[in-house]
Amino acid sequence: MLKIHDLHASINGRDILKGLSLHVKPGEVHAIMGPNGAGKSTLGNILAGRDGYDVSQGTVEFEGRPLLELEPEERAAAGLFLAFQYPVEIPGVNNTYFLRSALNAQRKSRGEPELDSMQFLKLVREKLSVLHLDDKLLHRGVNEGFSGGEKKRNEIFQLAVLEPKLAILDETDSGLDIDALKTVAEGVNTLRAPDRAFVVITHYQRLLEYIRPDVVHVLADGRIVESGGPELALELEEHGYGWIRDRVVPEA
Ligand code: ADP
Ligand code: MG
Ligand code: MG
Repeated sequence: MLKIHDLHASINGRDILKGLSLHVKPGEVHAIMGPNGAGKSTLGNILAGRDGYDVSQGTVEFEGRPLLELEPEERAAAGLFLAFQYPVEIPGVNNTYFLRSALNAQRKSRGEPELDSMQFLKLVREKLSVLHLDDKLLHRGVNEGFSGGEKKRNEIFQLAVLEPKLAILDETDSGLDIDALKTVAEGVNTLRAPDRAFVVITHYQRLLEYIRPDVVHVLADGRIVESGGPELALELEEHGYGWIRDRVVPEA
């Protein structure tokens, strides 16, 4: 589904990713952990198609297509969801309306019929009930005055409605409370499917107490330096990142 091979990328002439490779198959949940400044968010931003990054080497294939050659909207239409794709506050624009526009834009570019407001409402009710969310957030402005927890709930709701093939979540270390983490984890667990994969980027082992990843990777100094099962996350919790740093091979 996702094949990243030997990715090298820089920001303002500074090398951040230094030969990163990662393979994700349908149905899998991968966690990417690593010390602050390792390049985790950079990886997410490059996959999202954000400006400002120079990719000098390597390839990224998504479902057999060269991802880096696609515009952000084309990536979304191809089935890629990045939680931080829609984080903006849009005061006065109704959250439901916004999401229907996003969904219909994707459907249109796939040649699927757009949903009218009745059909969309039905879909929304279904997703809310599956996720045990209430409809409070639907009628507010997009992310307008949302708390951290509400943003997380909204993110998971967007994910459920857009039904991507691959969802990439960057769980920044910005003081989310345990309820917000649980919302993310329960959302991921509920939306897991044989044809859907998740990459969860996180600084915190805590999130992985609720999500059971199939594969845990450690990203340090721009590369994946270690991969393993869920037990790797526990090891990191116990020993920190010091022992991983020792494995980062100095550049020749
Ligand atoms: P992580 O998410 O793993 O904490 P980031 O990908 O955010 O790490 O950052 C990786 C490195 O790139 C850090 O050293 C950071 O300071 C640097 N960096 C990130 N964004 C920029 C930028 N816009 N300009 C310059 N350096 C940046
Ligand atoms: Mg950081
Ligand atoms: Mg980050």
